[in-house]
Order: sequence, then C-alpha cells, then structure tokens
Amino acid sequence: MPQIIDGKALAETIKKEIGEGVKQLVAAGHPAPTLAAILVGEDPASQIYVRNKIKTCEELGIKSESHYLPATTREDDLLELIHGLNKKPEVDGILLQLPLPKQINKQKVLDAISPAKDVDGLHPTNVGLLVQGRAELIACTPLGVIQALKRYNVKLEGTRTTIVGRSDLVGKPLALLLMHEHSTITICHSKTRNLPAVAAEADLLIAAMGKAAFITPDFVKPGAVLVDVGINVLKNEADVAAIFGPESKKMQDFKAGKNVMVGDVHPAAHEKSSLYTPVPGGVGPLTIALLMRNTLRAGELRR
Ligand code: NDP
Repeated sequence: MPQIIDGKALAETIKKEIGEGVKQLVAAGHPAPTLAAILVGEDPASQIYVRNKIKTCEELGIKSESHYLPATTREDDLLELIHGLNKKPEVDGILLQLPLPKQINKQKVLDAISPAKDVDGLHPTNVGLLVQGRAELIACTPLGVIQALKRYNVKLEGTRTTIVGRSDLVGKPLALLLMHEHSTITICHSKTRNLPAVAAEADLLIAAMGKAAFITPDFVKPGAVLVDVGINVLKNEADVAAIFGPESKKMQDFKAGKNVMVGDVHPAAHEKSSLYTPVPGGVGPLTIALLMRNTLRAGELRR
C-alpha cells in the first residue's frame, strides 16, 4: 500500500514553527512582520485565496493589510499602489493575487514589487538568485513540495526526477530547487515526445500541468514517489464517472452540487507509487504555509 503525504497536517506543523518565529522576532523588540495583499477584480476563487491568506496571517501573529481594487483598475494605478507599498517601512511582504485583468501586464507589475518584499519569489532578482542557489524568497508552491519531500524523508540525491510543467510559478523553480538537492531533473511540457515513457523513468514524478487526471498508471514507475500540484474542478458528470466511477462517493458529491476536485494524477496511478500527495489535502495547504514562511523571512531580513 502506498503511503500518503498529509499536506494538511504538515502545513499545521510548519505554521506552528512560523508562529514561534514571529513570537521570537517580537520578543527581541522588533515589530511583527506585515503582509500587504492586493486583489484586483472580483474572481470568487481569488477572493477565497486572499481571505485564507489574511486569516492565516492573523493566526500566526503576522500583521496584514488588504487592498481590494476593482476589475477596471488601470495598470498605472496598480503600479502606484505597489510603489507606495515598496516605500512603506512597516510592510515586509507584498502579495499580488493572480490572475490579473487583461488590461494589466502581469510581468510589468510583478517586476515592480521590491525584491526584498517579493514573498511570492517571482521577481527576476529572486529567480536569478535561485538559479545560483542563494535565494531567500522562493516561490511558495515549489518550497512546499520540497518541505513535503524532506519531511517524509524522500531521498533526492542521485535520484531521477521528472517534472511535467515548466511554468515560472511551479515547474521551473521546482526544477532548480531539486537540482540543488542533487536530483537529476527532466522537465517535460506540451511539446515533449513520448511523455509516458519519459515519466516512467522517474523515481520522483511531479505533475504541475492543470490537466485533470492526465497522469495515468502507464506514466508511473512502480514504487515511484508522486507529487501532484494540479488543482482541477470537474465540470461535467461524464468526467467524474470516467475518473472516479459512476457509483463513487465523488459522483454522489457531484450530484449533490459539491465541488469535485482532482489533481493532474489519475487516482488509479496512486496504486503504483510508494508515496503520493492527494488532491485535495496535499500540496495545496503547504502553499499558504510557505507564504507565511516567506513573509517572516522577509521581515527578519529587513530588520
Ligand atoms: P501553467 O498553465 O502556467 O503551466 C502548465 C504547464 O503544463 C505548461 O508548462 C504546459 O506546457 C504543461 N502542459 C500542459 N498540458 C500538457 C500536456 N498535455 N503534456 C505535457 N505538458 C503539458 O500552470 P501552473 O504551473 O501555474 O499550474 C499548474 C497546475 O498547478 C494548475 O492546475 C494549477 O491550478 C496548480 N497550482 C496549484 C498550486 C497549489 O497551491 N497546489 C499553486 C499553483 C498552481 P507548455 O509550457 O508547453 O505550455
């Protein structure tokens, strides 16, 4: 039977550690770290993400301020807000919730965030430092994956890792982090030929694609470790039936109008692994915990 990585429990442990770190900072006479969150528009999922991040800050003694801007916000106005937060001494971290409305150039506004306050680790300066293995602020989801692997004692040195997905947010930073852990990395994407065969060579297979249940058992080497970053909400009954079965609990949930989520890894593939992250409850909860870690780290470095 494969073992399951309990991302929820792990996130709680990490958050406790961060909470202790915040207490120590304050006990040493410093102000608590502060996170400024910016949300542009009314996307319901983004609203939930931002609310959860602010709530987690409160739990850990991290201060926060929220900036809710309308979907019609002009790029210049967003840039002005970011420049103001860059200069504001009490703000340690700036979180710009993605996605952004079409009229705003994502890269331009992300680049405007001060690297010292870039708690999402997406600024080119921090990405450059990551390439050189000396970054302090690193993208939260890749950091969460590394924490999960280390805390479950997954051997990385000398092993072969395949990452499916090459985004700036997940695939690329994760590849760099794992390379620094001495794993041998293969990065796959939509143009990769013979993907199942390439994936099946991996001791550690990471899916970060955004394609529901794409990674089927034929992609998995027996005994491999499977990390599933993907979050996909199933929209039609036929997909739920094909992935989970027509008589499954998930199908009952779907018919009851509940959200049914699946990762990029097909549930049938789990059985071939030795250890895997579930969806939900795997990588997802770790992302917020590591955002808190980055906020504390930014605060410590700025003091
Ligand atoms: P992107 O859409 O930016 O990147 C997806 C990547 O997957 C691309 O590199 C793309 O290749 C590759 N890909 C897509 N289809 C295929 C295919 N058929 N075969 C091989 N490769 C393919 O997504 P993100 O990296 O931002 O996110 C990936 C997933 O992770 C999403 O489901 C997202 O919701 C989830 N996510 C979860 C987080 C969490 O906290 N758990 C945080 C961030 C993301 P190409 O480059 O060639 O287009």
